[in-house]
Amino acid sequence: MNASKDKVVTIAYKLTVDGETVDQGELSYLHGHQQIIPGLEKEIEGKGPGDSFTATIAPEEAYGDYDPEGVQTVPRSAFPEDAKVEPGEQFYAQDNQGNPLPLTVTKVEGDDVTVDFNHPLAGKTLHFDVEIKDVRDATPEELAHGHVHGPGGHH
Ligand code: ZN
Repeated sequence: MNASKDKVVTIAYKLTVDGETVDQGELSYLHGHQQIIPGLEKEIEGKGPGDSFTATIAPEEAYGDYDPEGVQTVPRSAFPEDAKVEPGEQFYAQDNQGNPLPLTVTKVEGDDVTVDFNHPLAGKTLHFDVEIKDVRDATPEELAHGHVHGPGGHH
């Protein structure tokens, strides 16, 4: 069986950015439901268990271009009092609809905290080493929920 819409695909992957391994592991996802970056999903489409490949994926097919307007300065009081507000720490703000917006603290100067709403991999070209481990049909329940259920059943 090959990867196509509504299949549950399990991959082993290694993600390299600028020559450094930033992530690796195994992942099961529902193909065709925008659960992984579009460039990687396209590469996996049509491949089956045992296939392996490397892919170089441009920012526009991954986490998007880096947006300079995503960098803002906010007061320290915008954070919870007991939070560790230091460069590299990640927090969640909310947009107008209440959706979580991840941000990263990049600089702290007195009461001024510089935050970056860009994804840490925005503007980066991603290199993937991928092996397809398994492809199976999604269950009706998984399709209804829009995500993969583990071997133990629901969630
Ligand atoms: Zn579910």
